[in-house]
Amino acid sequence: MTLLPSNLELRLDYRDYHRRFRSPLVTAHGEWQERDGVIVRLEAPDGRVGYGEAAPIAWFCPEIRTKPTTGAPLSEQMCLPAFGSTFRPLTINGVEDPDLHWALECALAQLNDPTLPGVRVPIAGLLPAGMAALAALPGQLASARRALKWKIGVLRCSEEIALADHIAQSLPRGVRLRLDANGGLTKADYAAWLTWCQERRDVIDYLEQPLPIGEEAAMFALAEGTGVPIALDESIARVDMVILLAKRFPTAVLIIKPSLLGSRSAYLRWRSANYQHRVVYSTSFETAIGLKAVWELAALDWPPLSPAGLDAASIMEDDGLCPMRIGWEICHTDWPQSVDEEVWKRL
Ligand SMILES: [Mg+2]
Repeated sequence: MTLLPSNLELRLDYRDYHRRFRSPLVTAHGEWQERDGVIVRLEAPDGRVGYGEAAPIAWFCPEIRTKPTTGAPLSEQMCLPAFGSTFRPLTINGVEDPDLHWALECALAQLNDPTLPGVRVPIAGLLPAGMAALAALPGQLASARRALKWKIGVLRCSEEIALADHIAQSLPRGVRLRLDANGGLTKADYAAWLTWCQERRDVIDYLEQPLPIGEEAAMFALAEGTGVPIALDESIARVDMVILLAKRFPTAVLIIKPSLLGSRSAYLRWRSANYQHRVVYSTSFETAIGLKAVWELAALDWPPLSPAGLDAASIMEDDGLCPMRIGWEICHTDWPQSVDEEVWKRL
């Protein structure tokens, strides 16, 4: 492996994409039907190629530009055309857009060392919100996954708790339930969920982002003494918030969506010094290019303590941009060498 000289001139290309969910993703923020993203490609003079993906989620980061507000392609909103057709590794320090920063840093990391960690990462399942969870449950249980996530804050609280009872009773021993409110609960509903989770500590893995961004102190104050693990997701999208809130709330489970972190290297630096925090890696519904980078970060965290939320393939339309069958684990041999190029050619 030869590291790239910091001023080496790399050829920069990029392509926008639009992908549709199989059925709209229902969360406490409403329905999400289509995701926009950008794939970047860097090519070294010796022919080595690195790919990266920018895959923002609007409700996680208020500063994120979303297409409906400007009408411009995401690559333009990220000011990618201003870079022209060349990019030098040292330029990465000046890339201010966090999603673009992540994408370019992934492409540079791949150019420097394309070797994937030789480990297996266990994968969690995703149940659809509301009543649809019951129909999806048998299929998820048959997949041998050890953790299932269910979105809450979508129906009336009492209705959802009755459904949660049903789901909890159906889980085989050893399968854990993760409840994700996407910041959409009232304090009264949060209290009701805490009481229920306390009674079902045998199956509850954690209660995720019960209250909106900014209400972290209330989240942990209300949960104090209940023994219910609370996870932060929307609150810690960017790496600076991971660092800040992990310090403030040392018991928090940290849901890391690598595509939203901004700086890959800053995260890896923090993680190596803070390995005691429980983290769970999660997809932002990327193509195979972005998903591989997310998987790689989870694999570098070996031994992973928690199944990762990486099942992006089954909930997006089959558009060939994530040609993977995702089972109960993903290992390095599940990524064909040509997968990045195949995705690129389809755009
Ligand atoms: Mg979440």
